[in-house]
Amino acid sequence: MSLPEYAFFKGQVRKYQDCKVGLLTNALNYGTACFAGLRGYWNEEEEQLYVFRVQDHFRRFLKSARLLMIDTGYSVDELASATLELLRAEGHREDCYVRPLAFLSVEAIGVKLNDMESSLSIVTVPFGRYVDAEEGAHVTFSAWRRVDDNAIPARGKIAGSYVNSAFIKTDALLAGFDEALVLNQDGHLSEGSAENIFVIRDGIAATPSITDNVLEGITRRTVMQMLRDDIGMEVQERSIDRTEIYLADEVFFCGTGVQIAAITRVDYRSIGTGKMGPVVSELRDLYFNTVRGKEDKYRHWCTPVYLMQEEQASAEAAIASAD
Ligand code: PMP
Repeated sequence: MSLPEYAFFKGQVRKYQDCKVGLLTNALNYGTACFAGLRGYWNEEEEQLYVFRVQDHFRRFLKSARLLMIDTGYSVDELASATLELLRAEGHREDCYVRPLAFLSVEAIGVKLNDMESSLSIVTVPFGRYVDAEEGAHVTFSAWRRVDDNAIPARGKIAGSYVNSAFIKTDALLAGFDEALVLNQDGHLSEGSAENIFVIRDGIAATPSITDNVLEGITRRTVMQMLRDDIGMEVQERSIDRTEIYLADEVFFCGTGVQIAAITRVDYRSIGTGKMGPVVSELRDLYFNTVRGKEDKYRHWCTPVYLMQEEQASAEAAIASAD
């Protein structure tokens, strides 16, 4: 992966190579940062890049920052505009990923959250699949347990808690699986290393509730709405047992990175028929059309990056008349 050309840092879009942090940076030493992850989708016919649910991602980002007592000094709208400005500078004409980060930038030894200086950066890179086997992943139950709300809250996208995700994912990859499922301390399902999960049994969909140590995923919310409104399925948020997965008709991951990925084998057992099922297949079609701005009903979730010619002309005229 090549490095980005630009980054939003210290209040403006700058050359990525000019954005540096020191070795003593608190977040680098102690994981005291939070982040977001958004996707931009290229729509070939419209020659337009759409960012999916930009406002919702930044709302959650600011909540994660609040958990760390970080006041970024930016509003949701300001962060959204900074992202669009950065994407325009980068000029992607392909699918991409956006990574905002708020971090304790103090360069001193000592662990605490209060009265600490923070910084904010945004970078964007071209991005394809996060999990290769999106049409049929083989996963395992991790021997690790999910971080608990009373240790590091999973509902915030807190950098330090991704060491837990890294342990989970690494062991799964080294054992030859595509991903892992992870249980809570009480033995119920929480999520994947960086994905929420849904289980379909007897025509009802279920996903772990937000008190089961999961990230409150934006895609999870999107999927719940689509399952209910478009596919006409009941969706339950509840605790899920490990063996419900083994007996499910369909299981899938969802998340900004993974998008919607069918899980077709768990611990060498086939899920349902062992192939992607009809609900996941329908949901994937709807989701991929939605994120590229092709579903009128959900078009409000897609923010266009590039200005249309008329908007460009009036923006230039406004600048000219201000001169
Ligand atoms: N859980 C974890 C631990 C994650 O890192 C992610 C990816 N952000 C998700 C779930 C999915 O969240 P979202 O749909 O908001 O991307």
